[in-house]
Amino acid sequence: MTAADNASLVAFFSQLAVKRWLVPGLHVRPLVAELFLTENCNLRCKSCNCWLENTKGELTTDEWKNVLRQLIALKIHGVTGEYIRQIRAAGLQPTPDELMAFRIHHVTADYINELKQTGLRNLKAQDLVALRIHGAETAWIRQIQALGYANLSVDNIVALRIHGVTPEFIRDAQSHGLKDLSLDKLIQLKQLGILKTSAITFI
Ligand code: SF4
Repeated sequence: MTAADNASLVAFFSQLAVKRWLVPGLHVRPLVAELFLTENCNLRCKSCNCWLENTKGELTTDEWKNVLRQLIALKIHGVTGEYIRQIRAAGLQPTPDELMAFRIHHVTADYINELKQTGLRNLKAQDLVALRIHGAETAWIRQIQALGYANLSVDNIVALRIHGVTPEFIRDAQSHGLKDLSLDKLIQLKQLGILKTSAITFI
């Protein structure tokens, strides 16, 4: 072992000691992942009776390879145990692929909780990624809601973002007397680019 390995071990066990005796909530990054490939054993030790049972339906070699691929990918994308705990505490149970997508697109527990406070419910992993991809910040959503669109769905928000409908644009439309427009009409108005004309008629 190198001096760096020794230093790493000392730091790891010191953190564990602090966690155990002083700060139970301290996140200590694991050093290793231990995988139990099987519950079955070829040996017949007298001190153990696990060999009396034959567990069926264990993971195949290919499935274990997939587990290892997922672990490596999670590590590459910086998905930590603490991150997973935070996301689960926010009410989601994402798959490994979804967790990686969350990390790539900066979906955090704080973001999920803020979205819930805007009234968005039953958010799925793909909703969260879509909202992040389209830059839907919660402050922006609140501004749109305050302009008379309280019951926005994820699809509504994504559509508004795609078509460049902003709070400023809605205020501008309303200042021209175009109040109570549906979201579709707002998008049409944005697409037509005729907001500054004096006479606007929707059929
Ligand atoms: S103690 Fe049990 S699990 Fe371990 S080698 Fe012996 S039989 Fe196998």
